[in-house]
Amino acid sequence: MLAKTPGGPSWFVVEKGVPGLSHGKPEDKHGIRASNTSTVSLEDVYVDADRLLGGVEGQGLIQAQLVFGYTRLMVAAFGLGTGWAALDRAIPYSKDRIQGGAPLSEKQGYTHKLIVPNAVLLEAGRAYIEETAERIDGDANDGGNRNTEGAIAKYLSSEAGNLAADAAIQALGGYGFTREYMVEKYKRDARITRIYEGTSEIMEMTISRDRWQFHLKTHGQFYHDMARQMEELHGKNNQIGAGTAAYCLRALAETLETARTQRLTRHQHILFKLGELIAHAEGAASLVKKAARSKEGALSPKAYDRFNADALAAMARIAARDAAAKIISESSRWIGSLVPETVAAELEKKSFIPQIHRAQAGLLEDMDYVADVLYERL
Ligand SMILES: Cc1cc2nc3c(=O)[nH]c(=O)nc-3n(C[C@H](O)[C@H](O)[C@H](O)COP(=O)(O)OP(=O)(O)OC[C@H]3O[C@@H](n4cnc5c(N)ncnc54)[C@H](O)[C@@H]3O)c2cc1C
Repeated sequence: MLAKTPGGPSWFVVEKGVPGLSHGKPEDKHGIRASNTSTVSLEDVYVDADRLLGGVEGQGLIQAQLVFGYTRLMVAAFGLGTGWAALDRAIPYSKDRIQGGAPLSEKQGYTHKLIVPNAVLLEAGRAYIEETAERIDGDANDGGNRNTEGAIAKYLSSEAGNLAADAAIQALGGYGFTREYMVEKYKRDARITRIYEGTSEIMEMTISRDRWQFHLKTHGQFYHDMARQMEELHGKNNQIGAGTAAYCLRALAETLETARTQRLTRHQHILFKLGELIAHAEGAASLVKKAARSKEGALSPKAYDRFNADALAAMARIAARDAAAKIISESSRWIGSLVPETVAAELEKKSFIPQIHRAQAGLLEDMDYVADVLYERL
């Protein structure tokens, strides 16, 4: 239990069955209905001082931050798994369902809207989960405090899982809406991942505030540094979208810098929007890194190996293009609309807009390739 104490928020171990501790009825929920959820009430509950976690009062929020790296990563994995479970129902279904004289799986209007983009978003989320988990495994010294990374992983994968599960209902048409075909259950079960362990909006705020601090501390270089890493990768392998990811990160760095000079984060919507853009840029960069490692045969043995290096490279190229396009369009809408024209023009000039537009070349071809991978047509 996290409780307010005179010294600040503190965690206590409260055993089941102590006098004054009770719980409400099981809630009748939208999803995860096999998991019992109920309110917990405390009335004059007494606990001994040795039940205070860590023995020092007022450490509750710091202790909570320490575990968020793990717990948010866990919820991220729920979102990822549910999204894939839904797509893995839609993929075989569309091989068998004949419409307009051919299986749905052969129709770009179907696969490139309902299947491929969701697979790419999920794999960006997975790459981020794996990268963060690997860092936690290696972080013997800092107690695994990966709060921001946990937030990014959760945000990307829970949003992607929900989109994928919703698309799977659409992909099954009328059957998708019935209970028998399961995808409506996945959609209901995925929904909680955008709410508990911190809502998506709270994730946007956390991501934005935390990375904002890095932007300030590095005098605006945090994402330029990450872009340099991408440029280095691009020098070694120009097939994994690293060049596009670099433009994306540089555009993000300039967006943050304009937000700083124009004091735009006083608008909460801008602060949250930056969190969304940061997550997508970092997610794409993470998938690019995974594709690079896969090509070198250097993936962690714990990494998921459903997709080979070529498939990961195509997905990374798509993710990098999507993230880059998102950043320049959202930045010009939200930042551009709030600043003087000269500042907007300056931001546009520094955002690699023509390069990002040109980097979209080959997008449809890559989506065709990923569809072939998913439908095992290669
Ligand atoms: C099935 C289930 C299991 C749960 N299990 C646990 C558990 O084991 N332990 C536990 O402690 N809790 C648990 N919870 C609680 C859960 O973590 C919270 O419901 C969740 O964090 C959202 O908080 P809230 O319900 O108070 O919503 P609110 O904070 O009221 O949020 C409502 C809406 O407002 C937005 N919002 C909130 N604050 C801001 C802000 N500052 N600026 C802008 N928008 C904002 C939110 O994003 C959301 O969209 C569980 C909830 C459910 C449904």
